[in-house]
Amino acid sequence: MIKSFQPPQRVLMGPGPSDVSPRVLEAMSRPTIGHLDPEFIRMMDELKALLKQTFLTENELTMPVSAPGSAGMEACFVNLVEPGDKVIVCQNGVFGGRMKENVERFGGEVVLVSDEWGTPVSVDKVKAAFETHPDTKILAFVHAETSTGVRSDAKSLCAIAKEYDALTIVDAVTSLGGSELRMDEWGIDAIYSGSQKCLSCPPGISPVSFSEKAVEKVQSRESRTPSWFLDKKLVMGYWGGDGKRAYHHTAPVNSLYALHESLVILQEEGLENSWARHAKHHEALKAGLEAMGISFLVEEAYRLPQLNSVMIPEGVDDAAVRSALLSNFGLEIGAGLGALAGKVWRIGLMGAACNRRNVTLCLSALESTLAEMGAPIKTGQALVAAAAVYQG
Ligand SMILES: *Cc1c(COP(=O)(O)O)cnc(C)c1O
Repeated sequence: MIKSFQPPQRVLMGPGPSDVSPRVLEAMSRPTIGHLDPEFIRMMDELKALLKQTFLTENELTMPVSAPGSAGMEACFVNLVEPGDKVIVCQNGVFGGRMKENVERFGGEVVLVSDEWGTPVSVDKVKAAFETHPDTKILAFVHAETSTGVRSDAKSLCAIAKEYDALTIVDAVTSLGGSELRMDEWGIDAIYSGSQKCLSCPPGISPVSFSEKAVEKVQSRESRTPSWFLDKKLVMGYWGGDGKRAYHHTAPVNSLYALHESLVILQEEGLENSWARHAKHHEALKAGLEAMGISFLVEEAYRLPQLNSVMIPEGVDDAAVRSALLSNFGLEIGAGLGALAGKVWRIGLMGAACNRRNVTLCLSALESTLAEMGAPIKTGQALVAAAAVYQG
């Protein structure tokens, strides 16, 4: 007979999911109620308000998509790209490539702006692309590239799009809650995120928000949105308006309790305090890794505090180290993707996982694992260096 599944206790310091706090897990285990129950609808309204506070937006169309971040991405592209629309897509890692796929599948014409993996989207290249293609309808880019640990300058990129009256679609899956992100102030028109990165919820929910200009584009579409499930015009009847909720799909009730709880926790901490916490623990982790002689992939000015891509020391077996960390310390860190496979580790400091205990565990576990394998690192200094950062 198959028995109940009992997952091991892990410390999640990879590219997501991140550690989920006991408060969020407890919220998830509360009684399931009907998704049109007046109490559930009250919770949905609070959830929308909390999401607006987190994206820093006044957008009425702000809601969680009942599916993972990739569905939030698809929701933005399927609603906003019409056949023949010219879309500038910026690619500097894995997720920009997926944006390109989305545009192509929905009949848009891609103008690709490529940058090296590990570098930010070039503002100058985007400017040049708009000069060559002033009829561009949409600019799409990833704010926080989780495949490399790079932050791009969302504010400047959106300002260029505005000059050409183009809409902006921004991937904020890894940035939301972990680093500065200001939807309205920066002029972002459509944004999507994910529950399992810096919001520290179980995976499976994607918060999205559309500006008034984006909603106008959805409403004035000539062609029918080619997805039924993600069609914002239909979903709005379920999530929008006061009182008049119509059945669209059955919301993942308990997962939404979890998202609500995680946003309440974030509200208690304060959004800017959360950004500062991510920056502080990143500094301590960085000091410790550098004391070991481990270097970063990304130039300091563009590093994401919540996703640290570090170079694997010469001659070290990538998979053996990650598997030793998992079996000996219950610690998960991420592998490199695509061209960076075998070259970097991706150490996440996301949401509830971003704390001093985890930084200390990661440094000491990595140091002892590498030392046992005879890797060329300096020992005995990492924890001292991290502690010095904490002591100010
Ligand atoms: C994780 C991630 C996604 C995809 O989210 P899923 O929940 O895995 O579908 C998209 N973009 C970025 C930048 C991500 O980090």
